[in-house]
Amino acid sequence: EGTPLDELEKVMKKSEVEFKKAKNGNVLMWIRNKDFRAFERASQAAKSMGTHVIALHVISPGDYKSHGRGARRIDFMMRNVKELRSELKEKNIPLVVRTITPRKTVPKEIISFCDEFNITKIYANIEYEVDELRRDAVVVHLARESGKAAFFVHDCIIVPPGMLLTKEGKPYSVYGPWFKKWVETVNENDNLLETSEDPEANDESVRKDKSLHSLFEEEIPSEVEGYECADAEKMAQLWPAGYHSARESLGRFLEGKKGKEADDIFQSSKVKEKKAAVENYPEGRNRPDVDGTSRLSPYLAAGVISPREVVQKARKMNKGSISQGGKENGFSNWISEVAWRDFYAHVIVAWPRVVMGRAYNLAMESVCWEYEEDQVKAWKEGNTGYPIVDAAMRQMRETGFMHNRCRMITAMFLVKDLMVDWKNEVGEAYFMQHLMDADFASNNGGWQWSASTGTDPQPYFRIFNPFSQSEKSAQSYSDPDGAYIKRWVPELKSLSGKALHDPFHKLDKASFKKLGYPEPIVDHNEARKRALRRFKTPGEK
Ligand code: FAD
Repeated sequence: EGTPLDELEKVMKKSEVEFKKAKNGNVLMWIRNKDFRAFERASQAAKSMGTHVIALHVISPGDYKSHGRGARRIDFMMRNVKELRSELKEKNIPLVVRTITPRKTVPKEIISFCDEFNITKIYANIEYEVDELRRDAVVVHLARESGKAAFFVHDCIIVPPGMLLTKEGKPYSVYGPWFKKWVETVNENDNLLETSEDPEANDESVRKDKSLHSLFEEEIPSEVEGYECADAEKMAQLWPAGYHSARESLGRFLEGKKGKEADDIFQSSKVKEKKAAVENYPEGRNRPDVDGTSRLSPYLAAGVISPREVVQKARKMNKGSISQGGKENGFSNWISEVAWRDFYAHVIVAWPRVVMGRAYNLAMESVCWEYEEDQVKAWKEGNTGYPIVDAAMRQMRETGFMHNRCRMITAMFLVKDLMVDWKNEVGEAYFMQHLMDADFASNNGGWQWSASTGTDPQPYFRIFNPFSQSEKSAQSYSDPDGAYIKRWVPELKSLSGKALHDPFHKLDKASFKKLGYPEPIVDHNEARKRALRRFKTPGEK
């Protein structure tokens, strides 16, 4: 049986003839939730196909709800819509926004919009979640029925799903061999890293066209009802919208260019050397206390910058190679991390059940879970009594960002120490609500990995010890002051050494009490034993 992507590709194939025949009207560039930049594949194709290009972004609260997207992410999208609108306006391309609800009416409403503005061809970049793929197949059908044509292209990742298969012709379920193939494929197909050109401008006549003129004047909403962002101003400062901000982050990371300097929100340790972060990436990617990663994820997740552009640039700086020197080389190591985005998108396409709330590893679905309201609250608020977990959870609440290492630690803590089912309202969904980079495939992949239910063989018996995890980063990765913990858990500011990482066990009772910091909400050793037992024999207590 085919996947929803196979289905979409099948109906598009059937429509190819109609697509070529469709009469020459205007062209719709449908801007989805992951492509807020002007020069993307759909826009490039669109211009070569018709008279005038009209850009449309659909606000679809039903989609946000089904993927658990939060107010911060939606606010970021709307800020990017605004940026993109003024960029396109300069090219005489109107960008309009429509709210369509309920979500199942989106295909029909898209067709009505096309009828209203003499649009005969529809272009968009593919979104890989199941409902979105099914929706697009309906759009193709409806377009055909009304003498139009719709076409969807791969854009938001580097290697399209389905291109990398094992010798047996199956999708890969393990990252290592998949990545080897990814490198080979990118090396053999130069076009995979080609970035699209800026879209060609509509000619001036578009503004004189009475039926289109009003589109330039329409107001666009700055927020979405039900998704008002409580800390919008702060988020706008930390994560400014638009392609130029994304480029600035890329320049800071790859070339050490100055931009808006990271304050202690992202850099709690003092760093003497001023090199581009990419050079220290093999270490920096494990150091939550330094600004050692690109922080490009919100921009990549919303498609404000293309993964092809960032990898192409890193490759160029890496003497034209995407993998030389392996993990020791900052550029190659970083490219291999960007590739994880592709990997997890491939996973949701090949195993659509993970989009429907299922575990990849079905055997793990019957693990017995717990749900202690107070413990869950403590996890969310960063009051577990485990300093690294608390620092990370507080950082995410305050900034919309959490370092990758900490995402693994906090996710594993919820699943293995608290035995909470990450697929319910708490784990995966809570991250979606708070992260600026919230992306279904990467988030789900990260959670499945941390919970040992995912594709890569992350054995259930690997359980991080949250005390030594932070100490590990303190010792092996030289964060001797535990600066990250001090930054986010000010109750522990006066501590140092081992006590900072595990105050409850390392201090005497009276000194601990004075801190005003919570006792650990579970005993890690006991919790570990429980997790080992339950994961070893799913279904049993
Ligand atoms: P860098 O280290 O600079 O990496 C560059 C880019 O590569 C990132 O921007 C991101 O696009 C990609 N990338 C890096 N690591 C991963 C990874 N493990 N999986 C997928 N892509 C990766 N990433 C998201 O973009 N959105 C999410 O919702 C998300 N949720 C996560 C949940 C959990 C439980 C875990 C363990 C990881 C999650 N990640 C998610 C992956 C990763 O933590 C972030 O992409 C990364 O921390 C972003 O920081 P950066 O841009 O500085 O990354």
